[in-house]
Amino acid sequence: MAETQGKVITCRAAVAWGPKEPLVIQEICVDPPQEMEVRVKILYTSICHTDLGTWTGVNEAERAFPRILGHEAVGVVESVGEGVKDVKEGDYVIPTFNGECGECRVCKKEVSNLCERYKVDPMKRLMVNDGGTRFSTTTNKDGGSSQSQRIYHFLNTSTFTEYTVLDSACVVKIDPNAPLKQMSLLSCGVSTGVGAAWNTAKVKEGTTTAVFGLGSVGLAVAEGARARGASRIIGVDANASKFEKGKVMGVTDFINPKDLTKPVHERIRELTRGGVDYSFECTGNVDVLREAFLSTHAGWGSTVLVGIYATPRTLPLHPMELFDGRKITGSVFGGFKPKSQLPSFAQQCMKGVVKLEPFITNELPFEKINDAFQLLRDGKSLRCLLQIAKHTTRKQQGY
Ligand code: NAD
Ligand code: ZN
Ligand code: ZN
Repeated sequence: MAETQGKVITCRAAVAWGPKEPLVIQEICVDPPQEMEVRVKILYTSICHTDLGTWTGVNEAERAFPRILGHEAVGVVESVGEGVKDVKEGDYVIPTFNGECGECRVCKKEVSNLCERYKVDPMKRLMVNDGGTRFSTTTNKDGGSSQSQRIYHFLNTSTFTEYTVLDSACVVKIDPNAPLKQMSLLSCGVSTGVGAAWNTAKVKEGTTTAVFGLGSVGLAVAEGARARGASRIIGVDANASKFEKGKVMGVTDFINPKDLTKPVHERIRELTRGGVDYSFECTGNVDVLREAFLSTHAGWGSTVLVGIYATPRTLPLHPMELFDGRKITGSVFGGFKPKSQLPSFAQQCMKGVVKLEPFITNELPFEKINDAFQLLRDGKSLRCLLQIAKHTTRKQQGY
């Protein structure tokens, strides 16, 4: 049994105190897990565009500070609360922002991964059990001491910390022999992208695909489409430096909208005799979504929305445009049910069906988290991996 079980743990976390303010690495207190909760020691975490979006505070309704952001990670269970049966101390786990209770009506159906109790909720900042937080601090953002104040949770996960507490529905056990650094990617970006291609669009062999936005999520869509045998994968990005990586992920054609004098969808229709079979919007830009929609073939084309849209604008389509027979749908966490489906997805990744290694473009120590944010903002990284805790149990594997 861990010495710390049942006790408050004092550790370091990167706390977001306000929109666009640099994160502050400081001491926090992490309470023990309550019923059906799990306390996890985070080993590695990476940064997704959704962390960036929340930190910049574009969507006012989602603002809640001080807060611990972060939702892509891998860690070890430190202790579990009453009633937790499927993970135990010492298990390697990945947190998932979209949970699976296994008992609600949605969890019992195959068609959706949006668990009634633990589906992703950007407004959620408190734990379900008691409406409280498991994080607190007596240190101000400037390092001075203060009365104990609570720190909000984020996206069911909060991984920019040495220890976090999650609902057990949002913790997935992984093979202890899995390459841990790469498993962090399955917490969000890679599962989201590959799943959008496999589970939502159900990309078939020999089909054509267009991916808008070649960050980790878009490139994971491309990698997923490649693995399913798509014959042509057109990558669209306004940052041409993403094209080099795209080639590794099976992107066959590249379009930089800045180089065109016509709308992107017209170029894609020219290249594909009327449009692609599937398109994926992975930028979070509503105007790009319209281009993605119009770039599919009339009659059967299918567009999958993956980006997160902070704008209050609604769908950029006239209802009559749907009579052309193009379909449009959204995908959360790639349609994966985390507890039931991620372990086998992780196995497939370990067999090389999906390449994970190219997604980690940078590695930095935890203290450099603000530099890692900057790399993503500048479009200079796919995933920057931050090492939070040193661990020795799997030394032989070099992690
Ligand atoms: P990223 O910042 O790494 O990549 C975004 C890419 O889009 C960049 O390469 C950028 O150059 C490109 N881009 C931006 N605006 C563009 C434009 N107007 N035209 C062409 N290209 C443009 O982000 P990411 O981590 O890959 O995430 C992508 C999106 O997916 C974000 O909106 C993120 O919030 C969202 N997301 C959704 C889910 C989900 O479950 N649906 C999960 C994770 C992330
Ligand atoms: Zn994410
Ligand atoms: Zn459920």
